[in-house]
Amino acid sequence: MATEVKSAVFELPALTYSYEALEPYIDAQTMHLHHDKHHQTYVDNSNATIAKAPELAEKTGEEILANLAAVPEGVRGAIRNNLGGHVNHSMFWSIMGPNGGGAPTGPIAEAITKTFGDFAQFQERLNDAGLKQFGSGWTWLALSATGLQVLSTPNQDSPLSQGLKPIICNDVWEHAYYLKYQNRRAEYLKAWWNVINWAEVNKRYEAALKK
Ligand code: MN
Repeated sequence: MATEVKSAVFELPALTYSYEALEPYIDAQTMHLHHDKHHQTYVDNSNATIAKAPELAEKTGEEILANLAAVPEGVRGAIRNNLGGHVNHSMFWSIMGPNGGGAPTGPIAEAITKTFGDFAQFQERLNDAGLKQFGSGWTWLALSATGLQVLSTPNQDSPLSQGLKPIICNDVWEHAYYLKYQNRRAEYLKAWWNVINWAEVNKRYEAALKK
């Protein structure tokens, strides 16, 4: 059997926990489809696109998304959608985990209280942004030059492309929740807080402050 060698620039990151680990909040079947199929497709399409713009292969996914203007126009849309999908999902898996949830800890806890009043008000803001995102997209906590902000983005658009540093993300595409929650996006958003990995969120926040 002939072996096809592909120049794979980006790779699907393995989950650091089992597909069942986020039950009952995110079911194993959703995790299998979401990680193995949806994310893999973004990776494959990113690599196919990068092959057409080899000058981008030297950069990280984050670097490319932070400077979309430098991406050749012919592939810019495909990069925004597919590399956005790869980078967003890679972050998403990393900020979740078993034994997650509860109140935030560490520096992000202080920053959330200072910016939003308290954790409950922050949760409401992030959930509300996710609920109001029409169609597919993401809800985010991101760091700007002036501090933390909540925003939502359509499709696979990254806050990196707006000069922001993403700290928390939640996927509000129907593929993220439909098998378990059907049309009840609000219920999914509320349940999702049980799987957030605050240690990883703190790592991202501290790294973003240093940049
Ligand atoms: Mn997704």
